[in-house]
Amino acid sequence: MDKLIIGSHVSYKTDEGLIGSVKEAISYGETTFMFYTGAPQNTNRSPIDKDKTKKAIELMKENNIDLKNVVVHAPYIINPANYNNRDFCISFLKQEIKRVEEFGVTKLVLHPGSHVGAGIEEGIKNIISVLNETLDASTNVDVCLETMAGKGSELGTSFEQLKQIIDGVKYNDKLKVCLDTCHISDAGYDLNDFDQVLNEFDNIIGLQKLACIHVNDSKNIKGSHKDRHENIGLGTIGFSNLLNVIYNEKLVNIPKILETPYVTDIDTNKRAYPPFKFEINMIKEKKMNYDLVEDVRNYYN
Ligand code: FE
Ligand code: FE
Ligand code: ZN
Repeated sequence: MDKLIIGSHVSYKTDEGLIGSVKEAISYGETTFMFYTGAPQNTNRSPIDKDKTKKAIELMKENNIDLKNVVVHAPYIINPANYNNRDFCISFLKQEIKRVEEFGVTKLVLHPGSHVGAGIEEGIKNIISVLNETLDASTNVDVCLETMAGKGSELGTSFEQLKQIIDGVKYNDKLKVCLDTCHISDAGYDLNDFDQVLNEFDNIIGLQKLACIHVNDSKNIKGSHKDRHENIGLGTIGFSNLLNVIYNEKLVNIPKILETPYVTDIDTNKRAYPPFKFEINMIKEKKMNYDLVEDVRNYYN
């Protein structure tokens, strides 16, 4: 059997460099991982420690993590769909692509952004324009546009919109897609029939463009446009539908990344404990654990 390429969002701390992220991924039993090169909600970034990156890559090799499956997520505050952010967005993205290349990572996930009142067509035009200014023949990273839930004025909520963006970009061989299960369900796609969803993706965008999958359950029903992730098997998508995505034979070589919510501490009610070790175990065993939340609390407490 092919090795399952599965991991989660892990932290990246400047003082530990990539080593800390790799150690965290290993502690959850992962074969890949995703990280932000700084805080997800801001664009402050520190220089990358080459020596630590080298050591991290050695540690990955020893633990069967292939660098080509590792993913960086661009900060979600940059908004390529908003014309007012255009110059900042382009300069930040160019720097971020350089940083990603320094790590040797080849996948950068990007939210297409929100049109914030300008309208869908105008927003898409802005995204295309930002990507045309950002990508060139020397770009060594696949920028993976993420499928979005449609919260507020988010774009990239349908395969057609993503296709329109891809078609408008000159160096679109550098553009790929990251499919987020929570987002597509919230956007209206029916994960009870994932084969049909995948066929639609193939017909509109082409399966060869799919480069990353975010595996999340959803707190809300199909078409809700809410974007609130739920732990694996505890949401409206459900365990068996998520297993159908994870073990789909057409997606064997694509990294699958969990972005499920941390479990809250029972006393403080704050999000405190990472669920990934237990969720990944469930996925590997193909067996739902309904005590997931309790088990996570007991393990870390
Ligand atoms: Fe995302
Ligand atoms: Fe996501
Ligand atoms: Zn989300």
